[in-house]
Order: sequence, then C-alpha cells, then structure tokens
Amino acid sequence: MRGARGEGRGAREVQGSKSKRGDRCSANVSAALVKALLLVVLLASPTFAYLKLGVHIGDQTIALRWQELPVRYFVSDQGVPGVTPTDLDGAVQRAARAWEDVPTASITFARAGFTASLPGEEDGMSTLGFEDRPELERVLGATSITVDTVTGEILEADIFFNAAFPWTTASGGEPGRFDLESIALHELGHLTGLSHSALGETELVHGGGRRVLGAGAVMFPIAFSPGNIDGRRPMADDIAGLSDLYPAGDFRRRTGSVSGRITKDGRGVFGAHVTAFNLRTRQLVGNFSLSDDGGFVIAGVDAGPCLLRVEPLDDGDLDSFFDETDRVDVDFLAAVHTKLANVQAGSDTGEIRISVRAR
Ligand SMILES: [Zn+2]
Repeated sequence: MRGARGEGRGAREVQGSKSKRGDRCSANVSAALVKALLLVVLLASPTFAYLKLGVHIGDQTIALRWQELPVRYFVSDQGVPGVTPTDLDGAVQRAARAWEDVPTASITFARAGFTASLPGEEDGMSTLGFEDRPELERVLGATSITVDTVTGEILEADIFFNAAFPWTTASGGEPGRFDLESIALHELGHLTGLSHSALGETELVHGGGRRVLGAGAVMFPIAFSPGNIDGRRPMADDIAGLSDLYPAGDFRRRTGSVSGRITKDGRGVFGAHVTAFNLRTRQLVGNFSLSDDGGFVIAGVDAGPCLLRVEPLDDGDLDSFFDETDRVDVDFLAAVHTKLANVQAGSDTGEIRISVRAR
C-alpha cells in the first residue's frame, strides 16, 4: 500500500501516487463526555477476533460500537464534477444496504436527508460528503468518529471523500474515475467500528506506491484502481468481522473459531497475519496474532476443515493496521500449518501452535 494518509485510521488510499509517506494522523476520535487525551487504537487483544477501532480507557481497551440502531446519517448537498448530490446519496444508500444485507449482522442505517453541513464538523450529525483535500495526495476518503469515552459508544461519525480525485457513480464504473460506491462501502465499514483487513495482494508500482492485484476484503486499506468496481460487496472476511461486532440471530452458534499461537524460535510473534480457508465452503477469513505470546483468534469461521496459513504483513503499511508498528514482526517466512483445523459450530478449536522460521 502506499503511504500518506489523512485523518482517520479509516483513510482509504489511492494507489500509484508518488508522494512520500507521512502525514498520518490517527482517527479523529473526539472525546464526547470525558476530556482526556484519547487515542484510537486497534484492539490488540486476543479476545478480539478482528481488527476493530477502539479507545484506551485507563488500562482497558474498548471496542467502538453503535449502541443505538439504525445509524442515522446525513448526506452533504455538495457535488463534484461527474457526481451530483443525488448521485452521492444513491451511492451511499447502496453501500449502506450492502452492509445491512449481511444476514448474520444486525447493523442498520437510516438516511436522514441532505444537509448543508460538512463532514468533520462535530455537530451531532453523522455526515457523508465531499471535501477538497488536495494535500492528502493518497487519501480517497476517511472516517472520523466521536465516541463516549466511558462506554465506547459511537455518537457521531463523519465520512469525507476527497474531491481532489475524479469520482464516478456510473453503474459499470468509468475509466479513470474512482468508484464512489466502493469507497463508501469501505468507509462505512470504518463507521461501524471495523478496522482494516490484510486480505489483499499488491504489487509495487514503478515510481512508488502499490497496485491491488486482488482483495479478499473490502476493508483492505488500498483501493482498486480507477475504473474498477470490484469493491461493492462485503466479502467473507468483512462479513465475519461485522457479524463479530454486531452479531445477529444464531451467528455465534452457527460458526466456530480458530485460536492458537504463532511462535518463532520458541517465542511469540506479534502481528503475524493468520488466515483460515475453509475447504468446504471456500470462506477465507483472517486476523493477526495480537499478543506478545503470539496468540490469535479468528471468529465467525464456517464449520469444516480449514487450511491455516501464516504470513508477515507485507502488502500494506504497518501503520494501516497497528499503532505500535515497532512491535510487529515481519521477519519470518510464510508457512502453511501442516494439519487442517477442524472447526465446529459453536466452539473453538483449542490452541493450535504454528511455528515460523526467520527469513
Ligand atoms: Zn480504511
């Protein structure tokens, strides 16, 4: 992935830019009830099965989450060349519906109408709209969140799409223009509390940056190239993450989890990307080892035999995933676990140990 991001861990980047890295600010979370220095962190605890946005409260970390559903949002009445406010509204509605259509998750949205206020204003209204931010050369969009720092409840979340880029809402996409619906889907994922997924493959582009070759999650931090509309539907990993945050029905009983430890030379590996591929349903989901002893958990896994693979995080900037990037170990060879994990509905596999070798 490429470098600079704007505000928001939520930022989605554009590929191929030559700008240098830097300019990252962590998600704009403002403390609504408590005046305190607040950081948005990725929940680095093995009890969390997917990367989510969270806040530190004392020595605890709490996942950010909407308590009151539906999430009521406004759409800015400002268009950009090629996209009218009505086009923007339609793209956001389709993206919101795509998340709502996840049968195992309870998230719902309610469109409150157009507004003249801008995303980023802390006004009690969750607003999505364009903003001209040419200085954010690699940021297509970003999400900022206001939370109750006692409970982790999300009170307001704003999404901006960077008007400095060419956009389209054409049903089949448009050459040279970014698909607004795909980026809205990604940012709305952040708005629900999801962080990034590492399920994607990129290649380095001559002159800087990375190009996405394929993604196994719309929450992969790097966007597809202009003209591409492949990112309009949540994938298995996004579905599992959202369902873990907002479980509906018998999601917990119908799925199982894989847990274990990644070690290198007998010591735990932090930040190893672990994926589970279900050979029966072809579901592909992933998470990271999130403790110093290398512990990982992947929840929402379909019952059946799963192939486990461990790899270093090398298809994206570490800071798209972790606050404390120096804790992340990327110095090991990818490995496939020699035994299939037998996942059973409603239960955990028990600790699976996978050792990797230094590279
Ligand atoms: Zn993002």
